[in-house]
Amino acid sequence: MNILGIETSCDETAAAIYGPAGLAAHALHSQIALHAEYGGVVPELASRDHVSRINPLIREVLAQAGLRPSDLDGVAYTAGPGLIGALMVGASVAAGIATAHGLPLIPVHHMEAHLLAPMLEDPRPEFPFLALLVSGGHTLLVDVQGVGRYEILGESLDDAVGEAFDKTAKLLGLPYPGGPHLARLAEGGGASKAWRFPRPMTDRPGLEFSFSGLKTAVLTALPKARNEQDRADLAWAFQEAVTDTLAIKCARALEQTGLEQLVVAGGVGANKRLREKLGELARRQGLRLYFPRHEFCTDNAAMIAYAGWARRSEGRLPHGKLFTTPRWAISELQPPTPATA
Ligand code: ATP
Ligand code: MG
Ligand code: FE
Repeated sequence: MNILGIETSCDETAAAIYGPAGLAAHALHSQIALHAEYGGVVPELASRDHVSRINPLIREVLAQAGLRPSDLDGVAYTAGPGLIGALMVGASVAAGIATAHGLPLIPVHHMEAHLLAPMLEDPRPEFPFLALLVSGGHTLLVDVQGVGRYEILGESLDDAVGEAFDKTAKLLGLPYPGGPHLARLAEGGGASKAWRFPRPMTDRPGLEFSFSGLKTAVLTALPKARNEQDRADLAWAFQEAVTDTLAIKCARALEQTGLEQLVVAGGVGANKRLREKLGELARRQGLRLYFPRHEFCTDNAAMIAYAGWARRSEGRLPHGKLFTTPRWAISELQPPTPATA
């Protein structure tokens, strides 16, 4: 079974094919340069760029995999959550291919795809596991019992972690998207203990997060940062506060659920300090820890093709009708209905 995956939810245009032997091909065009001068994603520009990029990327992955469209068994596309205009580009292209070749259309939840991205790696996690989803728009701790069987244990009450990284990076005058730039700046910091920020909501029970206060704490501290070293120390203190908070809540969720595998996904999963801290936690507690490779932490179509493939191989598809939705809770997803039922 070969599934074409299409991703256009935000500022990455991507296509991939997942087949019987695993990932057969993937290609991506990032719009980072296009939006950089505006300091954030401009939705209308994103949609227009997806329109001009998506078809060549699909031709590229078909060529890479040595397949014709008629060899496909389904077309998966990101139906949401995301920017509505951007989502509609991928959905329309997916519907066009599916209709032309008589293939089932598989709407994919973008966060389910992020969550399943570690399945593209070897070794891969086995159900059940705890997932920490840390991206530009989401911060979620999810108890994952199987495909479509997700219980949200905790989420951010305000800014998502990636958003907090990006906003704080902006305060520090770093280019968009600031997360990786802030992480790089922080590598030169840490020697001075001049700054220490709170680990929000760790002093009380629960698995909820709040990151907007940290950004304000950095803003308040900023006038005292007089040189490049001070700025690096500030970035370091911010990153320590965020990654400690995430590690503390992961430990708590693992204890609460008794789960023994931890899966980390989403763009902030690329953060080196976070990987180090969760690595320590896993060693200390004898847990198995899984990350996707860096390029599959941020948006990509390999994870969309895989999520479509997993749903198609585990059961009958929900309805296969074309739709897009800017907001969509992962807890609303249903497990696939067995095809034999
Ligand atoms: P969502 O998936 O919630 O809709 P998104 O698709 O924009 O949001 P991703 O592509 O998964 O999010 O991740 C992008 C985010 O990851 C950005 O906020 C970016 O700054 C952050 N990020 C990427 N690399 C790093 C890093 N090394 N350290 C910290 N943050 C990072
Ligand atoms: Mg992106
Ligand atoms: Fe994403």
